[in-house]
Amino acid sequence: MVDAQTKMQFMFALRAAGVTDAKVLAAMEKVPRHDFVQGHFAPRAYEDLAIPIASGQTISQPSIVGKMTAALNVQPRDKVLEIGTGSGYQAAILSHLARRVYTIERHRGLARDARRLIDEMRLVNVIVMTGDGSQGLADQAPFDRILLTAAAEDPPANLLAQLRVGGIMVLPVGQTDAVQHLIKVEKTENGFEYTELEPVRFVPLVEGVAQEP
Ligand code: SAH
Repeated sequence: MVDAQTKMQFMFALRAAGVTDAKVLAAMEKVPRHDFVQGHFAPRAYEDLAIPIASGQTISQPSIVGKMTAALNVQPRDKVLEIGTGSGYQAAILSHLARRVYTIERHRGLARDARRLIDEMRLVNVIVMTGDGSQGLADQAPFDRILLTAAAEDPPANLLAQLRVGGIMVLPVGQTDAVQHLIKVEKTENGFEYTELEPVRFVPLVEGVAQEP
């Protein structure tokens, strides 16, 4: 549970940090972030911080989640692909904005935990999969929107190919230990248009499924 005042301060901090899209704010208000943060970090779930999760990964900073979601400009009929399920928090937010959300995670344990939470929340339009997201999901392509929550050196060619004409992809690009930038890619009939949004820091996109128990 989260008390009303904590939630109100959280929403205020999101706005102050530049998340102004009303639909995105409404979706974020519906998703209990504390359920996606385990252990002794749980009390800090409503601070604007990235927080460690299992398998050495992180749940992204809420204001960045908000800005990425706004940049994606999700429409109610959209089929969305997210790469990097992590805790499942971002996927839960997308579920309130899109028709269907496919989310891929390379760590089986993270995918399993995220799936359990998403099922408990009855977010029936979210499909959590274990796999190498850099390959995309050819079966379900094309996608209206694609969101990467792990940093690639360049937008992966497979994902650009799986974006619908008129579609939008948002991702962090750059090397892990250098400055990364959030970029927005729009696919048009004549090619791709790129917009640089802001500097960010994400875990890297790693190829292949993680080998672990
Ligand atoms: N969206 C997440 C943030 C997760 S951090 C959330 O809301 O909590 C990024 C995640 O991307 C990590 O869990 C990492 O394991 C995953 N990842 C990295 N490379 C990947 C790949 N090639 N395919 C699928 N997931 C990947």
